[in-house]
Amino acid sequence: MALINLNQVSKEFSGKNGTVSAVSDVNFTVEEGEIFGIVGYSGAGKSTLVRLLNGLEAPSSGQVLIDQQDVAVLSGKKLREFRKEIGMIFQHFNLLWSRTVIENIALPLELSRLSRRERENKALDLIKLVGLEGREDAYPSQLSGGQKQRVGIARALANDPKILLCDEGTSALDPQTTDEVLDLLASINQKLGLTIVLITHEMHVIRKICHKVAVMEKGKIVEQGDVLEVFSNP
Ligand code: ADP
Ligand code: ADP
Repeated sequence: MALINLNQVSKEFSGKNGTVSAVSDVNFTVEEGEIFGIVGYSGAGKSTLVRLLNGLEAPSSGQVLIDQQDVAVLSGKKLREFRKEIGMIFQHFNLLWSRTVIENIALPLELSRLSRRERENKALDLIKLVGLEGREDAYPSQLSGGQKQRVGIARALANDPKILLCDEGTSALDPQTTDEVLDLLASINQKLGLTIVLITHEMHVIRKICHKVAVMEKGKIVEQGDVLEVFSNP
């Protein structure tokens, strides 16, 4: 059963200079447990696609179905509940600089029904999962880029999302750290069976961990399929 299904999705923005088609007639499905990559140069429509997937933006036409639910019809409490199903990872980590590692990770749980003790235990489990044992009480400014992103990943997993949406999550990291973070994402995909959607402008990232890929140019998907097949084409 497809976990994500985009059906003829288009998004246009109108402004002073007319209408811009950010995303045009995009179709793809992501199966549960897959690592699905979306790759394209700057301006290809990737960020718009991210906002369509996490419900921050509604399509101009077509449907974004997540777990069979049309995202555009959600609002209020239902939209807030839905957004917990998608864990987000960002290029610049988006951590709170005045909070420690464990506090950053437990932050999304503050809105849950869990007790303080339960939130702390959950955060400690996540710290173990991402390999940050011993750094619980460090502040983000005391961490390397790779460690900051491990905090970002742990925080994204706090609400047990169905999907991890990684928006240029390794683009601010050096090549070696990028590989380490991608290895971590691959191991989380294996261990938890978690579906990952990875948006990037770097082909190398796609090759390293994605099962499937969609290549975007000027708002359209110009090629998609198994990573091995797409990259074996001349
Ligand atoms: P990418 O993330 O691949 O760089 P974007 O989704 O940011 O691509 O942008 C795709 C196109 O849509 C670009 O031409 C961009 O200028 C345009 N665009 C994106 N968001 C808006 C907006 N809110 N208003 C107007 N144009 C936009
Ligand atoms: P970048 O990768 O662009 O250098 P960072 O991930 O370091 O960005 O920072 C993300 C955001 O947090 C930025 O808006 C930055 O201005 C802010 N920031 C970075 N370091 C600190 C800090 N020590 N205290 C407060 N804000 C910070």
